[in-house]
Amino acid sequence: MAITSNIEYIDSSLNLEIGCDGCEVGADCYANKLVSRTAGNSGIPDKFDHPVIYPERVKLASKWSDLTGTKRDGKEWLNGYPRVIFLNDMGDTFTRSLSRDWIWPYFEQLGNTPHIYLLLTKYSSLMKKSLDEYCILSQPYGKPRTLPKNFIFGVSVTGRNTTGRLDVLREISHQLNPWRTWVSFEPVLSAITLPDVSWLDWAVVGGISNSRLKSSYSQILHLVMELQNQGVPTFFKQWGTKEINPYQDDHTIGDVKGGRKILSGYLNRMFPLELYESNK
Ligand code: SF4
Repeated sequence: MAITSNIEYIDSSLNLEIGCDGCEVGADCYANKLVSRTAGNSGIPDKFDHPVIYPERVKLASKWSDLTGTKRDGKEWLNGYPRVIFLNDMGDTFTRSLSRDWIWPYFEQLGNTPHIYLLLTKYSSLMKKSLDEYCILSQPYGKPRTLPKNFIFGVSVTGRNTTGRLDVLREISHQLNPWRTWVSFEPVLSAITLPDVSWLDWAVVGGISNSRLKSSYSQILHLVMELQNQGVPTFFKQWGTKEINPYQDDHTIGDVKGGRKILSGYLNRMFPLELYESNK
């Protein structure tokens, strides 16, 4: 966790939990690699697949300054927004081995801070169950609870085998209205044909390149075009490898590991106003 972040669509990251039971990305999970290198150190679980919760960290986020109305150097697309915080980017909030209600106390605490929290999961069905139970089943004093407006709930879709997560998110978005939803298509591992996603508030797209996996030019371009055709504000993160970037005069070469960032002649970086509005 850190008050600053190299991830270009956030200001900070907050890890109330670290660890995960795994997913289709397997050994290529960035968080797993990072945690495994430092496993057992203070504030890091002994094993990545033994997730640990760190409740004391919630106090840090409440002390972080409100960035509303400020400019960001090198992240101009965030100018004016509240601080954007990725919640639990070193694991998965709704991973199987954690209880579904562990996050509930933090909804209220973080809901009272001025920041925006991005939450992302590959365990979409478990997220839905957790949110359903929070809002519907657990009604203290007979009143339904509502989720904090400054949380943006999202799922990660990496290829054609995982588009089912979009259906679950769509159900959640209907239930949560006016709460906002987002999807991270990173890394793109196969061609993705999208269903109707015009309801989606925001998408991030990014390619990958390592010794085992590579995204292709057509997979990425087709996906971004489909998202744009359906009117979904899209943040294009990177190609993954410069070989598949058709824009040879891309001035962002060297800015990022694994590929340049120009798409169709532009740096496509959008953080939509609707996500800010949901924070009010
Ligand atoms: S769900 Fe996320 S944190 Fe868990 S193994 Fe997959 S990529 Fe890593």
